[in-house]
Amino acid sequence: MSELLIAGGTVVTGDHMGPGDVLVRDGRIAAVGPDLQANGVLDRDAFEHQGGRILDASGHWVMPGGIDTHTHLAHPIDRLGITTADDFFSGTVAGACGGVTTIVDFSLQRRGESLIEARDRRLGEIEPDAVIDYSFHTIVTDVRGDVLAEIPVLIEDGLPSFKVYMTYGDKIVHDGGLLGILEVTAAHGGLVYVHCENDCAVTHLIEKHLETGRTGPAFHKSSRPPVVEAEATHRAIMLAGVAKAPLCIAHVTSAGAARHVAEARERGEAVVAETCPQYLVLDDSVYDPDGGFEVAKFVCSPPMRSALHRDALWDALAAGSVQQVSSDHAPFHFRNQKTTGRDNFTRIPNGLPGIETRLPLVFTGGVTTGRLTPQQFVQVTATNPARIFGLHPRKGTLDVGADADVIVVDPDAEVEIDAAGLHSRVDYSPYQGMKVRGFPTWTLSRGEVIVDRGEVTAPRGRGRRAERGPITSEALP
Ligand code: MN
Ligand code: MN
Repeated sequence: MSELLIAGGTVVTGDHMGPGDVLVRDGRIAAVGPDLQANGVLDRDAFEHQGGRILDASGHWVMPGGIDTHTHLAHPIDRLGITTADDFFSGTVAGACGGVTTIVDFSLQRRGESLIEARDRRLGEIEPDAVIDYSFHTIVTDVRGDVLAEIPVLIEDGLPSFKVYMTYGDKIVHDGGLLGILEVTAAHGGLVYVHCENDCAVTHLIEKHLETGRTGPAFHKSSRPPVVEAEATHRAIMLAGVAKAPLCIAHVTSAGAARHVAEARERGEAVVAETCPQYLVLDDSVYDPDGGFEVAKFVCSPPMRSALHRDALWDALAAGSVQQVSSDHAPFHFRNQKTTGRDNFTRIPNGLPGIETRLPLVFTGGVTTGRLTPQQFVQVTATNPARIFGLHPRKGTLDVGADADVIVVDPDAEVEIDAAGLHSRVDYSPYQGMKVRGFPTWTLSRGEVIVDRGEVTAPRGRGRRAERGPITSEALP
């Protein structure tokens, strides 16, 4: 039996905040409450005699570990012949240092491949490397009858979520394919997680830009305006309505898309949505036409929007109409990866690093400024992602019996973000120089301290595949 006590902190969960101790036994939460010794739950002398470890959490907030359900580690971009800059070791180390204790990454079905083959290949890449618990969504790109028949098998196997791209070259799934996937997931307890942009409009706008010599990285923004996102979001919601299927919208970036989600929820439809820190703390001023190729550091899809959209996303998070913040960590080196698109913005690999900075950016932009309550911070970074993707109640809470995935954060400790001090292998940070709060002093995974005051103590490969159950409309936040 191994025991650990997180003593004297302020416990913050999705629905509670107050002084408390957290007792961990054999990797699970054994007790939570104010002064467990004074209340007769814990004999502290016997605990210490038996070698139990105590973390002094005075002045700290004790919260469920962050859950990041949108990461792209060791993710191949076949079109450009490159792979994201983090594998499952460096990426999960970076996550742990930023307070993340579970990731849900992706497996990618290639054309002609079965979903089961894609699963097995991916498990082989993750298992030796991950230092925190993991699962993945299956990206469906080749919708065939035999592929639809594999969806219930994967749900049964604890992989109940399926990513669909409504744009992106050879990965696109057209409306008919999306509807087919929605019908199967609705019938078997699965969830479609969809990237929404109107492919015709994006393709047309890109061609128009290139024909007229608008090839620099700043033109990425005008090739994917907010309306293409709002239209596809509305269409995905409509198709989910036809199939009577629950739906999760990936990376909502605009007021229009957020409004479509809120209206669907008001109609009682089972629609949930995520946004990402880059859309909450950056805006489209990063696409400075005079900014040279440095602008490529901010090329991701959808792109960042104006401050008006950014403020609408904070409002949607506070109102609960957008329920979670994921990183969409897709790190590409500025040198020799982003530069693939030096003469043509469409060849810049799309994505930003962010697994390590997600919690601090949301904490600072949300809690420190008063836009979110501390409980809402836990909801959007841990509890809601766990509920949406079938990880609840083992993950995302501090309830007795849950995995002891815990972060201990000094809410007043300020850090200046510097790429050199982060743990991703990528060579820059989009948030360079920002001052943030919310980095953990300690990160615990299943009761083990894996980050101890900045030092990573997790051995490579210690992460386990997280158990996930079917996803029902009723369970969604
Ligand atoms: Mn996407
Ligand atoms: Mn993504």
